[in-house]
Amino acid sequence: MPKPLRYAQALRYNRQIVLPQIDLQGQERWQHARVLVLGTGGLGCAALQHLCSSGIGQLTLVDGDIVEVTNLPRQCLFSNQQVGMQKVHAARDRLHAINPDCVIHTIAQMADDMLLDELVPEHDIVLDCTDNLASRNSINARCYKHNIPLVTGAAIRFEGQIMLVDPVQDSACYGCLSQLIQPTELSCTEAGIFSPVVNLIGLQQAHIALLHLLDKSPTRAGLLHTYDGLNMQWNQFTIPAYQGCPVCQASHKEIR
Ligand SMILES: [Zn+2]
Repeated sequence: MPKPLRYAQALRYNRQIVLPQIDLQGQERWQHARVLVLGTGGLGCAALQHLCSSGIGQLTLVDGDIVEVTNLPRQCLFSNQQVGMQKVHAARDRLHAINPDCVIHTIAQMADDMLLDELVPEHDIVLDCTDNLASRNSINARCYKHNIPLVTGAAIRFEGQIMLVDPVQDSACYGCLSQLIQPTELSCTEAGIFSPVVNLIGLQQAHIALLHLLDKSPTRAGLLHTYDGLNMQWNQFTIPAYQGCPVCQASHKEIR
């Protein structure tokens, strides 16, 4: 039987609990939720801050990088004093300061398929906050394999995109999206990134994950949201399932 919220926690989260869409039951669901965040760069920092402060019970952080001074203009969990630290440890220290009730697991390495096969099934939802195509494809495939919902986000220059992938709903997946829009291989190092845009996308990943955990997802799975930060404009596109997709279409067959 899951533990109910303590009195001090009910007070702490009062402004959320008074929302009828969240209520005490929703806050308790968050307390018992386990969220896997892959990547603690700009997207991950923004998402983690809000998952932690909102009352998610357990967070697992996976990243092999260390904090560099060039991260500081946008990666909001890190400070000047933490340059040179493993990002997952620096993020954990800051998140503990925000909300000591949150249990934080850290893995200071990049996620490979073997690690993902171990971690993904232990969580209720996954946030892909990585910054490269190989990781995104691998995370997408592992979430499909284990039937765990995924919120995938990306940002570069002044542009961002976000999509919920839900294997249970048989939605189009990141592999289908890649077939339609050839994702850029450019990194933020090469192309540059506007800090508010990457933070906005990470924040939206947390927004979707929090409501999805309450069965109140604010977006349909397979609906791509894009953001143009130079014109402050959101657009939406329904991504059709690509018949040749080796992930979600193969998932109907024994390859899975
Ligand atoms: Zn697919």
